Amino acid sequence: MSELPFGHRGRRAKIIATLGPASANSDTIAELFEAGADVFRLNFSHGSHEDHAKSIATIRALEKTVGRPITIMMDLQGPKLRVGVFKEDKVIIQPGKPFRLDLDPTPGDATRVCLPHPEIFSALKPGATLLVDDGHLRLKVKECGKDYAITEAVIAGGISNRKGVNVPDVTLPIPAMTDKDKADLQFGLSQGVDWVALSFVQRPEDVIEVRAAVKGRAGILAKLEKPSALEHLDAIVDASDAIMVARGDLGVEMPLEQVPILQKRIIRSCRKRGKPVVVATQMLDSMIKSPVPTRAEASDVATAIYDSADAVMLSAETAAGLFPVRAVAIMHRIICQVEADEHYLELTEARRMEPEHNSPGAITAAARQVAHTLKAAAIVTFTSSGSTTLRAARERPNAPIMCITPSITAGRRLGLVWGVHSVVGDFIHSVDDIGDVAVKAAVESGIAHDGQALVITAGMPFGKVGSTNMVRVVRVGGETGTQ
Ligand code: PEP
Repeated sequence: MSELPFGHRGRRAKIIATLGPASANSDTIAELFEAGADVFRLNFSHGSHEDHAKSIATIRALEKTVGRPITIMMDLQGPKLRVGVFKEDKVIIQPGKPFRLDLDPTPGDATRVCLPHPEIFSALKPGATLLVDDGHLRLKVKECGKDYAITEAVIAGGISNRKGVNVPDVTLPIPAMTDKDKADLQFGLSQGVDWVALSFVQRPEDVIEVRAAVKGRAGILAKLEKPSALEHLDAIVDASDAIMVARGDLGVEMPLEQVPILQKRIIRSCRKRGKPVVVATQMLDSMIKSPVPTRAEASDVATAIYDSADAVMLSAETAAGLFPVRAVAIMHRIICQVEADEHYLELTEARRMEPEHNSPGAITAAARQVAHTLKAAAIVTFTSSGSTTLRAARERPNAPIMCITPSITAGRRLGLVWGVHSVVGDFIHSVDDIGDVAVKAAVESGIAHDGQALVITAGMPFGKVGSTNMVRVVRVGGETGTQ
């Protein structure tokens, strides 16, 4: 066990670990947390409600043991398109031969198969591309009607039962959530998940629709994986509470060589707007089978950290891999190394965003500057909603951000956010108490020791959302400083 097993982890970027057959048990969940997992992701493309309920109960029990908030993200499957089944389970499509997609559920063969999504046919146009099984088979639409499409394979390829289909060229006239998503969402919210990740977002309206259903009970993270979403990037970032660069489907829907550029573009848009951003998929992919990642994978994680992503995510590595705990531990080590690099600090400094042109923005930028000048041990944010803390994270200060909140909900949600270490405490009524409370929490979490300064920000009166208006400096073991 590390010296501070459940205190501050000594890094800023966060780690998301996806649970699955390799890890969804109480021992492994505890080991993943200890190795550095800050957020547990439950992938609703797999597993039953019973499985997910068990994982949630295990995480909440662990949270009680460790005495600090742990973040749970549910990831909705979204409107993933899939073909039906084949008589022989699998067929090879030859180029030049017509292959028909239609609504007939009869098992398919080398000439046709069911695509049980009537709304797709009306949106298709001749010349559109259909990508089957993550792009392993590429079909070009030759002719289409309201209930069929005749396609041709670009090169020979296999297609088997229920393989996924991507339609990159077309904005699909489909709602943000399927009936399964709606049922999963209500289940997840009833279980108290902290974040809802929304797959295949195409437009800001998709996020707005889900927000109406979530009613503030969780943060909404939009997964960017469709070209149509990138056409509305800034508006989707504005509409969402966080964003994921979902490179799996993004790399199918867009040419691969564009993925690194889009990753940086998405991170910049999020950083500007102070919205947490996650880089996901295949980060340590070879660790599904191997105890060590490739150099290229180590470099990929490092790039996301240099770019100032809030979090990096493990999918199959922790859900179905042979080395789930090791994958988290290695990701933790890579992040710590990058964050200790002088060049990282220079880059963070050089890329600092203009403060938001309002009083909370100005106060938060000032708090960062004070912390920098005093080499403070932490910026301590008092928050009920989390907004004061999010603002501090947008500034990307050198000092860790300690969040003190009476709201377990806010504490859990902030687990995804760069640099934030949350402590849930009693509601503070008087500004006179904040110095003592900040010092006690910072010392107990291992963030500060005697003689070090803490820079405190808060919104007065407490409990009023978005009112960050105060900076104060205190010294551990010393007199309370200036306001
Ligand atoms: C992705 O496509 O990169 C992604 C994170 O989504 P999922 O794992 O749900 O396919």
